[in-house]
Amino acid sequence: MKEILSRLNIQEHNSGSSTGNEWLESSGEVIDSFSPVDGKLIASVQSTDRAAYQQIVLKAQEAFAVWRQVPAPRRGEIVRQIGEALREKKEDLGKLVSYEMGKSLQEGYGEVQEMIDICDFAVGLSRQLYGLTMHSERPGHRMYEQWHPLGIVGIISAFNFPVAVWSWNSMLAWICGNVCIWKPSEKTPLCGIACQQIVAEVFKKNDIPEGVCSLIQGGRDVGEWMSKDTNVPLISATGSTRMGKAIASAVAARLGKSILELGGNNAIIISQHADLDMSLIGCVFGAVGTAGQRCTSTRRLIIHESVYDSFKEKLVKAYAQLRIGNPLDEHNHVGPLIDKDAVKLYLYSIDQCKQQGGRFAVEGGVLNGDAYESGCYVKPCIAEVTNDMQIVQHETFAPILYLMKYNTISDAIAQQNNVPQGLSSAIMTVNMREAEEFLSHAGSDCGIANVNIGTSGAEIGGAFGGEKETGGGRESGSDAWKAYMRRQTNTINWSTKLPLAQGIKFDF
Ligand code: NAD
Repeated sequence: MKEILSRLNIQEHNSGSSTGNEWLESSGEVIDSFSPVDGKLIASVQSTDRAAYQQIVLKAQEAFAVWRQVPAPRRGEIVRQIGEALREKKEDLGKLVSYEMGKSLQEGYGEVQEMIDICDFAVGLSRQLYGLTMHSERPGHRMYEQWHPLGIVGIISAFNFPVAVWSWNSMLAWICGNVCIWKPSEKTPLCGIACQQIVAEVFKKNDIPEGVCSLIQGGRDVGEWMSKDTNVPLISATGSTRMGKAIASAVAARLGKSILELGGNNAIIISQHADLDMSLIGCVFGAVGTAGQRCTSTRRLIIHESVYDSFKEKLVKAYAQLRIGNPLDEHNHVGPLIDKDAVKLYLYSIDQCKQQGGRFAVEGGVLNGDAYESGCYVKPCIAEVTNDMQIVQHETFAPILYLMKYNTISDAIAQQNNVPQGLSSAIMTVNMREAEEFLSHAGSDCGIANVNIGTSGAEIGGAFGGEKETGGGRESGSDAWKAYMRRQTNTINWSTKLPLAQGIKFDF
């Protein structure tokens, strides 16, 4: 890992505050980054203090005045080069993601691949920031709309996708003509430093001034500075619903804009018409992949009563074959949770589930001993519950899978929708009628609804996000770029008269 850190320009002690290539002094508290893989200290990062934050905002404002004048396709060309730089660093960055966050190596590489994909998407988009033209009701007039950049986009991200979520936001924000200030999670600060070095180098090569890509580091306080700052017109925040509610009210209090990507409580409906073997893969990967720490992780299985017992049996057998251990070893299926606090929450949820009447078909527990020294490895478990139990209504960020039964498809859809969150959902069925019902306006109320695919593993081409307590934001593909711009309606009179709209007469 030492060599990888050195190739990614990560020192033992790092400044956490940067305007691009310049790293600022700060007296903020030191964050030590420990790997959940083996519990070892990787390196440390100095949080941003107020003075450094203000310097960064100032630099970003100056850079915006320059960057917004760069034609969008040229901005796209620079993002293309960022994609190339990420291709070169894919292996090193993927390993760092895996080691600092604890996800499997395949998923670490996959995360960097997602960054590359969004770069490619953004390059094309940089020539497609289309506005509409409208027919004016007045003779000799033309109406159209155009999209302009907002200014500084503040990005606050979660630990579980320590690099990809930032890239979804920043690549789109950049081609739209904005400048970005990123606060990564305090649990994965080194991933932030590595990405900053990679992109800053590309901007420098293209003679783009400091301040287009800035980095700040720290916990909640540092995030709050940004969410309350009127100099930051848009905050894009990814994290827990608790965090989202705090940010939503801070940003709304100053009438700013926000994109919120918050917690999920995702379900798969297993119909009696499902291909059960195929469904099994989707369910197990969805529930235990990233040790249940994806916003789209499968948390609930709503199973038709006629196949409930046989599918439960398949699940139990599959869980018995799971290998838990070092995520950098590609033979293992399940890595660690992010830290010991996450382990406590996992144990608390198991306890609550039992108290509320849940019965465990596969028991959980914490692993100790050789190879589990970090204390962060837990057993994926399965509980039989009912949807109305309080614990089932919450997102526990750990590999706990809840099973429940249904009788009719409308009952299954009602159970799927009957939680506060609305991120991802799926139905496993080969019955076209029930698949279409699930996707209809009377079906799933989530931002993502899949058929014969699990809840996790979205592609960058679609708009990503969810409803209700998931926050309502959309990022990544489709027309998500519009949230990073302001719309301006323009009316041009090329006649010699000045007729008023709605036929209003005003003569003197
Ligand atoms: P978290 O809410 O603890 O922290 C997320 C980020 O918000 C961190 O950078 C943190 O420092 C910052 N923060 C926390 N409170 C803040 C406040 N009051 N003001 C400003 N910033 C604040 O979340 P986490 O534990 O890092 O991540 C797990 C959560 O993220 C889960 O709920 C998961 O579902 C969610 N998530 C959602 C998506 C999505 O796209 N919907 C994607 C990834 C993760």
